[in-house]
Amino acid sequence: MRVKFGVGLWAYDALASFRSNQIHKHLSAEETESMLPALPEGKITGGFLYYDCKTDDARLVMEVLVAAVRIGAVVANYSPVIGMESSAEGCEATVQDSLSGDIFRVRAKRAVVAGGVWADRIENLLRPEKEDRLRSSKGIHLLFSRADIPMSNAAALIPDAERERMLFVIPWLDSVLVGTTDTEYSGDIDAPAVDDGDRKYVLDALNSVFDLDLNDASIAGAYAGLRPLVKGKEGATADLSRRHAVYDVAPSVIGITGGKLTTWRRMAEDAVNRLAEELDASRGSRTEHIRLGTSDLAALNLALGRRAERLGIPDASVSSLVRSYGNRALSVLDVAEETGLTGPLVPGHPMLAAEAVYTAHSEMAIRLTDLLCRRTRLALTNREAGLGIGSRAAELMAAELDWGYAKTKIEVETHRAAVELERGLSLPLPATG
Ligand SMILES: Cc1cc2nc3c(=O)[nH]c(=O)nc-3n(C[C@H](O)[C@H](O)[C@H](O)COP(=O)(O)OP(=O)(O)OC[C@H]3O[C@@H](n4cnc5c(N)ncnc54)[C@H](O)[C@@H]3O)c2cc1C
Repeated sequence: MRVKFGVGLWAYDALASFRSNQIHKHLSAEETESMLPALPEGKITGGFLYYDCKTDDARLVMEVLVAAVRIGAVVANYSPVIGMESSAEGCEATVQDSLSGDIFRVRAKRAVVAGGVWADRIENLLRPEKEDRLRSSKGIHLLFSRADIPMSNAAALIPDAERERMLFVIPWLDSVLVGTTDTEYSGDIDAPAVDDGDRKYVLDALNSVFDLDLNDASIAGAYAGLRPLVKGKEGATADLSRRHAVYDVAPSVIGITGGKLTTWRRMAEDAVNRLAEELDASRGSRTEHIRLGTSDLAALNLALGRRAERLGIPDASVSSLVRSYGNRALSVLDVAEETGLTGPLVPGHPMLAAEAVYTAHSEMAIRLTDLLCRRTRLALTNREAGLGIGSRAAELMAAELDWGYAKTKIEVETHRAAVELERGLSLPLPATG
């Protein structure tokens, strides 16, 4: 087994072209146990340490959008395409503002449908007769507090209880993230949810490997997602290719689906280059020249550290700001200083109350659920999904966006219902607001 894993990890390091600053190494049983104190003593004979990347996908998407706006893109949220027409000359999309109901039309020489698991639905607006291109596979993750699964900063890869698949156990934000599963999905693509079987599968794996007795009540958060897999052959979704495909949808419209989060730049590059070629443009994708986040982490930390100390903001919040906003963390501190919102948004978590104001002003957060699910990740890492006692989320969004009592109540209840549906569990405390 040691030889098998060793060979696999050499291959993994080679695939990363040895770009990681360190390559894998073997660990003794004692070294492994010290990294994972939840392991029962004497049960394992050793481990391997290797290096990988982790991200917060919502923050990555936001950083891409901010960079796109800087170089001229117009972005819109809550605005699905509800109709499309196209010809060799160009295309027109009918878009509906789903909050106001307003309808507007967008014309372009070319369009790209990058609709993830919704791609078939969007493409059917142009070609209702076409065969579906995608199959979806559901994957779920559970989150726990760091106190419930003690571990150092290293992630662990553990077998499931039947020893058929491996699960990641990853220190993520201020929690521990465990997943994932890979099951064929044929339900509503707008509402995948964690079910009893999913939760049991992950809990059984954790309890069988670690010296833990976790149950539904231990779960801090849970979410389900659908992988858009390009249809290939019959069989389990786990065997389907994770490669992406760029293809013609209709005259002047191309599509891109499949792929992985880690290949997003490559996917964008392929789609843009395809359009550049079709339009005889003088240059193609510039993605390799666009930097996200920050170019000088040390300088940013220094600038933030001094101001944060003056404002009484703890180090954990400063790290969280850097991780979430890159250089824009300085603008969040500006908001904290101007408004006096230097305390936490939800007690016990590093996100600042000022982030509610900043994301409403600068990141198009217009629903409570935007703030709690897609700007901060409190809906995942906080047992009460950001709604418990002491939470300022609803109150601050209401003040920023001029919500009255009734609207605030609807926002709280809508967020609560969405989280409960996705977790497959009730939130422990009644909502405030
Ligand atoms: C459980 C799970 C684990 C995963 N783990 C990893 C991993 O470890 N590493 C990795 O690299 N990848 C991973 N992936 C895969 C990765 O998340 C996906 O490949 C990636 O998010 C797909 O990106 P996308 O832009 O193609 O689609 P999406 O991110 O789904 O974007 C599609 C967008 O289209 C929008 N949309 C839908 N309908 C319309 C409409 N009518 N009009 C306008 N817009 C519309 C949606 O709102 C959405 O924003 C995982 C996926 C899952 C589900």
